Amino acid sequence: MMNDLFCDIKKEISNKLDEKNLPYSKIEPEGPEIGIYTTDPKIYFDDKKIIGDIADYFKKKINIRTEKTSLMDVSEAYNIITKLIPQDAGVKNIYFDSIFGEVVIEALKPGVVIGKQGAVSKEIIYNTNWIPKIIRAPTDDSDILKKVRSFIYKNTSERKTFLKDVAKKIYSPPVSSKDWIRMTALGGFGEIGRSSILLETPDTKILLDCGINQADKNEEFPYLGVLRFPLEELDAVVISHTHIDHIGFLPYLFKVGYNGPVYCTEPTRDLMALLLFDSINVNVSSGKEPLFSEEHVVQTIKHCIVRNYREVTNIAPDVKLTFYNAGHVLGSSSVHLHIGAGKHNLVYSGDIKYGFTRLLNNIDMDFPRLETLIIESTYGDKKEVSNRSIVEEQLIQTINDTAAKGGITLIPAFSVGRAQEVMLVLEEYKRRGKLNVDKVYIDGLTREASAIHTVYPEYLRHTIKTRVLHNNSPFMSPLFVSVDNAENSRENVLDNPGSVIIASSGMLTGGPSLSYFYKLADSEKNTLVFVGYQAKDSMGWKLQKGLRSFLITDEQGKAKHIDVKMNIVTADAFSGHANRQELLSYINNLKDKPSTIIVNHGNACQDFAKTVSQKFHLNAVAIKNLESVRLR
Ligand code: ZN
Repeated sequence: MMNDLFCDIKKEISNKLDEKNLPYSKIEPEGPEIGIYTTDPKIYFDDKKIIGDIADYFKKKINIRTEKTSLMDVSEAYNIITKLIPQDAGVKNIYFDSIFGEVVIEALKPGVVIGKQGAVSKEIIYNTNWIPKIIRAPTDDSDILKKVRSFIYKNTSERKTFLKDVAKKIYSPPVSSKDWIRMTALGGFGEIGRSSILLETPDTKILLDCGINQADKNEEFPYLGVLRFPLEELDAVVISHTHIDHIGFLPYLFKVGYNGPVYCTEPTRDLMALLLFDSINVNVSSGKEPLFSEEHVVQTIKHCIVRNYREVTNIAPDVKLTFYNAGHVLGSSSVHLHIGAGKHNLVYSGDIKYGFTRLLNNIDMDFPRLETLIIESTYGDKKEVSNRSIVEEQLIQTINDTAAKGGITLIPAFSVGRAQEVMLVLEEYKRRGKLNVDKVYIDGLTREASAIHTVYPEYLRHTIKTRVLHNNSPFMSPLFVSVDNAENSRENVLDNPGSVIIASSGMLTGGPSLSYFYKLADSEKNTLVFVGYQAKDSMGWKLQKGLRSFLITDEQGKAKHIDVKMNIVTADAFSGHANRQELLSYINNLKDKPSTIIVNHGNACQDFAKTVSQKFHLNAVAIKNLESVRLR
């Protein structure tokens, strides 16, 4: 079936190539992209406009592939390539992928591997016929990146078959003459946690996010049980960003039969791997049966198809997807879906920050067209606005005061996003001589997460990007000490009065932050600082509401009484979410006003929807989980 639609494109591409006298042996779909195979790749790289023109014309990413028979022998090619690349490129790894005819080069300075105007990479092609794919190595060793990269760049014949299967769906002709669009709330509506939305047309079924609610064990999973079709019929999953309340249930889909694509940005893919593997460990260490195994996480990562911001991609015959920067965490996106030829444009905001952060560039909301907006409202009910620079000064003062008393400051923080934002604040104040602390211990996944940040400088705020590119990454400052070896074990950290600990989880629901808290709680010298959202019923939330005494079961299984004497502070300006005023400004500043706004991801969605309809005179609603809305 696919051949009908793909054959047309293929014919057009061949005509175009014949017209320009470009040699090719076959043209193949690679998911949403197209591979042109040739025995003579050089000619395509003589003028970089050639590939660009074809891609622009067909509005698809074009990959030039060398036929296996024309690839130089691997050991010979390796010798040539290592001689061609200048020493200062900091090459860490070279993999040869004969299935796609690519040589994957991982280097600390990709720009040096590319060379001036692509001179070095062109020489690699001219001398070996291997097409270089150049990727950035992290500034700090990262086990998770090594794993992800081996899943993606090794054994690619499996990947090739998967991409062909994805293309079958993308190019299948419409089967229905009917015309409707429906969305169903599967989780995260009227609540925070387990975000998931099903979007359907007569021909296509797409899932937006697939999270779990870590704070509420009775309402943990999205309502996937109500889907009245086998999961193999799902055409695509689209992931807005890497937080567990948006991805925690995703590997379970692979466990129960899903085998299709997961569209996300590249940093989202890597951070997902980090958090999903860890979620298995968290379950095991708390004596809980994990929902899925490592193999299901591996399958999830292998099925990711990554897109950059603002790259328009056909993900189904009637749906085009574009990610826009959501300013929330590294790689976070608002998802724009163009459904049917010009018929309907939907934006799913994902989690958004509409204000300054040190880590990320400002949100991008320049959507070409918009009929329906699904918007988060985490802080839709919060009216007071904190001043970021005052809160930063207060945080530093709190840490300095605690250190002066010989106490330890514990900052529980999500390992992705909040931890890096706080690290950037501490690093800057340290450089300015205003932070009187020499050691900030980093525990949990934060070190790995920070290493992943250094691989994607183009996703970071300009100042941080420049520092990473000049080998001066703030995350590598000597101020930060990893808690991961005998010398810096958890026990030793507690013997360092006057220090700071940044540890996950951010809501004290488990992980190292909770064990540090139990050990630090009974001294008034110590301070606990909350820097992020605390979900209802989490330990963090209870402490904010005044809990000061409770029982726990210690490591030996004995009941232990915890008396909280430590100072508890909330530094309320580092959130990755827009506050109420910012959410309203966001809606006000949309270029194209939607006719419908659906409010989700909040505890006061109804109230916020009411404010939006009154203020903007448009249809704003807060639906419940399991409700469907016909969009067209
Ligand atoms: Zn989030």
